[in-house]
Amino acid sequence: MKILILSTPVGALSSGIGGGVELTIYNLIQEMQRRNHIVKVVAPQGSSFPHADIVEIKGNLHIPAQTQTREIPTIMPENSVLANMWEYARQVQANYDVLVNFAFDWLPFYLTPFFDSSIAHFISMGSLSDSLDQIMAQIAKKYPQNFAVYTKSQAQTFPFPDVCQCLGSGIDLSLYQFREKPEKKLAWLGRIAPEKALEDAVKASEITQIPLLIFGKIQDENYWGNILTQHPNAPIEYKGFLSTVDLQRELGYCQALLMTPRWIEAFGNVAIEALACGVPVITYARGGPAEIVTDGKTGFLVTPDSVEELVNAINRIPEIRREDCRQIAEQEYSLTAWGDRFEAWLKSVKNVKF
Ligand code: UDP
Repeated sequence: MKILILSTPVGALSSGIGGGVELTIYNLIQEMQRRNHIVKVVAPQGSSFPHADIVEIKGNLHIPAQTQTREIPTIMPENSVLANMWEYARQVQANYDVLVNFAFDWLPFYLTPFFDSSIAHFISMGSLSDSLDQIMAQIAKKYPQNFAVYTKSQAQTFPFPDVCQCLGSGIDLSLYQFREKPEKKLAWLGRIAPEKALEDAVKASEITQIPLLIFGKIQDENYWGNILTQHPNAPIEYKGFLSTVDLQRELGYCQALLMTPRWIEAFGNVAIEALACGVPVITYARGGPAEIVTDGKTGFLVTPDSVEELVNAINRIPEIRREDCRQIAEQEYSLTAWGDRFEAWLKSVKNVKF
């Protein structure tokens, strides 16, 4: 197949602003190229990925949906990068078998019937916006095969759960080294933004006095500043936004990964990255992470928003065998298994005749 991937308009690829969808796009490129498909990516200017054919598009970035309230109308910036990316796609569409949309934004859904090529929509977040839900529902009714998500919990947040194909996620396990023996420290990993509730992990580290290493892009500076002001004595260390190679090296030495999503996390790529290193995951029992972690075997599922339960789970970390974590990652989250599902979905979308 000839595949044209259209990236998120919230940030350049490799900036970290796009969150897990950046890793998903990177993995999709690698895996589809390995299968001899021709892959081109259209993404905001400044994007870079090794071994990827990227067309960089100028224009203003879009505001991430999770920073807005549900009822706010869709916002289109002047000289929108998303509009420019889709104008490019319109011009070259005849050269491709399928276009894959990764933008969690109104425009690509609206444009679907106006394109001659088939557009596969991969939805990367749970429901956040009424106007977006409305256009997605309208298009899902007309093109039910063209919608895919990460998890069932994510699909349930939309008014059209039954049409969504759940593809899960996968990572290149060879990049993640299994570490049998951890040091006395915990990890927290992800975009530093309110929906991720980093403050709960910081509180748990303050109570247990186990150092917490924090990895990820600071998306909301004020939010981060408030955490530092409110917890001056927490044993936390900010390590920055690391490449996968460096990230897995540091993560592997941690006793557990704490995941504290306040929202319904669509998947949580960080959970499978931790498991691949042999690191148990302690997470709030909601959204994607609750589908990934087996309570008592690969980590602990705790009552959402309960710091007390996070602390109890931290005290139980020795009950988890790190080998079991790696094994689950190998069984369920390999790039090949995910690639099989993604490829089958793209083929089914490509073959849809209107
Ligand atoms: N990440 C990274 N370096 C870091 C911290 C995070 O590359 O130092 C990546 C991580 O590998 C993951 C993404 O950031 O792919 C976070 O994605 P996740 O699915 O957990 O959440 P999202 O940000 O999409 O809500």
